[in-house]
Amino acid sequence: MGAMVLKDRDGMVAETEAGFEATLGVYLSVPFCRSKCSFCNFASGVSSEEAVEAYVGRICREIATAPGRAQALRARLPRDVDTIYLGGGTPSRLSPEQLRRIFGTLRETFQIAGDAEVTMEAAPGQIGEALLAEAMVQGVNRISLGVQSFVDRESAAVGRSHTAKGCVEEVYRLQRAGVTDLGVDLIAGLPYQTEASWRHSLQTATSLGLKHLSVYMLEIDEDSRLGREVLGGGRRLHVHALPSEEATAALYESACEWLPAQGFEQYEISNFALQQHRSRHNCKYWLRAPYIGFGLDAHSMLLRDEQAAGEGCRSAVRFANCSDLAQYQEAESCAPFRVAASGGFSMTEVGRSEAFEETIFLGLRMNQGISLVQLRQEFSADLVGPAEEAAGEVIRDGLMLEQEGRWRLTLRGRLLSNEVFTRLLMGVAV
Ligand code: SF4
Repeated sequence: MGAMVLKDRDGMVAETEAGFEATLGVYLSVPFCRSKCSFCNFASGVSSEEAVEAYVGRICREIATAPGRAQALRARLPRDVDTIYLGGGTPSRLSPEQLRRIFGTLRETFQIAGDAEVTMEAAPGQIGEALLAEAMVQGVNRISLGVQSFVDRESAAVGRSHTAKGCVEEVYRLQRAGVTDLGVDLIAGLPYQTEASWRHSLQTATSLGLKHLSVYMLEIDEDSRLGREVLGGGRRLHVHALPSEEATAALYESACEWLPAQGFEQYEISNFALQQHRSRHNCKYWLRAPYIGFGLDAHSMLLRDEQAAGEGCRSAVRFANCSDLAQYQEAESCAPFRVAASGGFSMTEVGRSEAFEETIFLGLRMNQGISLVQLRQEFSADLVGPAEEAAGEVIRDGLMLEQEGRWRLTLRGRLLSNEVFTRLLMGVAV
C-alpha cells in the first residue's frame, strides 16, 4: 500500500510503504472558558467547578475504555502515542490535579513516546504557576496562546479580557519558565481591524521569539453570537466595525506574503512555523494518520486492517462525540453502538470514495500539496481520472499549480479552497 509517514520533527512527509499508521495522535477537548468570545463557534462555554470536575471523571473513563471501543468498531488503535493536543475551550481552566489525573489515565492506557509533542492551548493570563509546573511535569512542551489580536480595542470588541501588554508579558513569562516552543493564534477580520493594525499584530507576534503562528479569517456563521448578529442584520457586538469580506481576505493574503519573509514558512492554509516547528499533531489530520479524540465534540479517525474495496488505501472509520455537554456527560462510552442510539456519538465508514475525497481536501490544505504518483497508486482510475480532468481548468484559473508531480494551491486557491475542492471532486461517484 502507498501510505504516508510523518517523517521528522518538522512534520515533513514522504511517501513510503510503512509506518505512518503505527503511532497515534491524541486530542483532549477541555470545553470550558471564563467567558464566551463573540466570534467563537466551538462547543465551549462557561461552567461551574463541579461541572469541570464531573467532566474530568467522564473523559478519564472515556480514555480508559478506548481500546474496547476501538475493538467494537473493528478499528486498529495504536498503543504508541507520539502527539497529544489539549484544546478546547481553554485547557488552562483545569486544576493541576485534574491535569495529572488525565495524563495518568493516558499513561495507563497508552505508551507515550519520550519525545512526544505535547501541546496545550491556553488563554493569555490564565495559566497559573502551579498548573504550568504540573503541565511541564506531565510533558507539555508546546503552548499555543489564543491571542487573536495585539490591539486592545479589537480584543475587547470580541469579548477577550486580555490586553496586548498582558499577552506580551505572558509570552515572556512562559519562555522564562522554559516553554520555548510557543505559538499564538491571530484572527484577520476582527472589528476595527485595519491594514495598519493587522500589521502591528503580525509584527508584534514575530518580534517575540515565537515558533508558530496560526492565522484564521473570521468566520461568520450561525454557530457564533457575532455570526448570528451579522446574519440577522443586527447592530450589536460591534458589527458596524467589521471589515468587509474583501478586506479580510486582503489581510489574510498580506500575512501569507509577509510572514514567510520573516522566516515563518506557511505549511498549511492557516499555519506558519519556523523551521522544525510545525505542529506534528495537526499534520496528522491533514495526512490522514490515525488519531483519537476524547471529550466534548472530539473527533477521531482510525484505520481498519482491511484495504478499502478495490483500492490501494486502507479503509477507516471516523467517529465523533456529541457537542452537547449534558448529553456527553450522560452517554457512557464503553458501548459505542448503544451510545450512538442515544445521539451521543456518530460514526462514518471511510470507504474508497470517501478516502479519495479526504486525500484531496485535506492534502491540498498543506502547502506541500498532493503527490500525483501516490494518488494514482492508492486510488483507481475511475476516481483519479475525473479529478485530473477537472484539475486542468482549476490550474488555468490560477487556483492550483502542478509542480514536480504535485498539486498545490496558489495563494488565491487558498482563499477559495472550498471551491477548488468542490470542482476537483465534482466527478467522483459516491
Ligand atoms: S475563542 Fe477560545 S477562549 Fe474564546 S470562547 Fe471560544 S474556545 Fe473559549
